[in-house]
Amino acid sequence: MQTRRIAIFGATGSIGINTLDVIAQLGGKDAFEITAVTGNSNVAALARLAIEHGAAMAVTADESRYDDLKRALSGTGIEAASGASGLDEAANRNNDIVMAAIVGTAGLAPTLKAAAAGADIALANKECLVSAGPLFIDAVKRGGGMLIPVDSEHSAIFQVFEENQRRALDRVIITASGGPFRQMSLEEMRHVDAATARAHPNWSMGLKISIDSASMFNKALEMIEAQHLFDLAPEQVEVVVHPQSIIHSMVGYADGSILAQLGAPDMRTAIGYALAYPDRRPLSVERLDFAKLARLDFEAPDETRFPALRLARLAMARGGLQGAVLNGAKEVSLEAFIEGRCGFLEMAEITEGVMAEMDNLPAATTIDDVYQADSEARRRAASLLRR
Ligand code: NAD
Ligand code: MG
Repeated sequence: MQTRRIAIFGATGSIGINTLDVIAQLGGKDAFEITAVTGNSNVAALARLAIEHGAAMAVTADESRYDDLKRALSGTGIEAASGASGLDEAANRNNDIVMAAIVGTAGLAPTLKAAAAGADIALANKECLVSAGPLFIDAVKRGGGMLIPVDSEHSAIFQVFEENQRRALDRVIITASGGPFRQMSLEEMRHVDAATARAHPNWSMGLKISIDSASMFNKALEMIEAQHLFDLAPEQVEVVVHPQSIIHSMVGYADGSILAQLGAPDMRTAIGYALAYPDRRPLSVERLDFAKLARLDFEAPDETRFPALRLARLAMARGGLQGAVLNGAKEVSLEAFIEGRCGFLEMAEITEGVMAEMDNLPAATTIDDVYQADSEARRRAASLLRR
């Protein structure tokens, strides 16, 4: 295999660490030259990763931590940079591929830069598609790179999606574990805190996505992500609750066939697929033992207890900037929930309120429209939170 140049955005996070593990499994320095790793305020961890994995550059998004990063890297020959300009530099290092694994809307601008520079984008950051949808896809196309999903559900769909059978496509069926509160009553959910909400039954992930899984906002984002990624009509996007997280998603065709991708709930399979695409390379991840599994369960999602799913349908039906609005308002209420300023169920109430206030925006024609809708949604969510 030829050595490929890779930048890892969000290297200190859950996806970032798994990516570094996968790179080591795929041959380490013989397979990938790490042009840059990026992180946020945790510069000690960032410097350690950069040194351990031989990255050429490390970038902290937090400008105030630049001096600390520089100090931690002194004598190593690894370049240090910070802030938006540092992320730009990381995006422009002649990368063959970029792992986009910064959490939230903060990931949009650097990923767009990497796309414009022509890199293939291994996309973990679902917010890029939820907020910017067709504009983001267009930016990747114009750059000339490929867009390869890393989110496990979308990787599953991508793996079994027969593009040449598009006319015979019925639907995609996104599986959802149901999260830690799958069987909890609305009344109980009213009182849960962030420590309880972050404990996911099957997947080990970053803090925000774990809480989004408990509220099923994660699934809501994934519905919109799938709509854009596979160019689907809203009614072609289905969700089924599957508590074991073994089937990662499915595609249904007009002849009644369903193709599914299965595996242990381990993000390294989806990451490895994206990094090796179009090949499949060996990974030491758990193999499924069907006799041990014995059964797989399914149930309909409950949009009353999990209103986020209803909001995703609303956003898909309205189209335009509603995805950006949903995501911006959700991120603000999620932060408030983590800090104890907002109840668990209020996250959906606030988001729905902001979506109703901003339901008549024209469709975005530029990325600036997306940023404007995002910041207006954030401002309105913050104001609803104060009431
Ligand atoms: P995480 O919280 O573990 O890591 C986030 C990374 O982003 C860290 O490196 C952090 O330093 C960086 N970061 C945070 N704020 C930033 C900012 N303002 N500017 C620049 N960098 C910043 O998150 P994660 O679980 O690894 O998820 C990353 C992305 O991948 C998210 O969009 C998430 O939805 C998506 N995703 C994650 C998983 C998973 O299993 N963890 C699965 C599917 C999709
Ligand atoms: Mg997912």
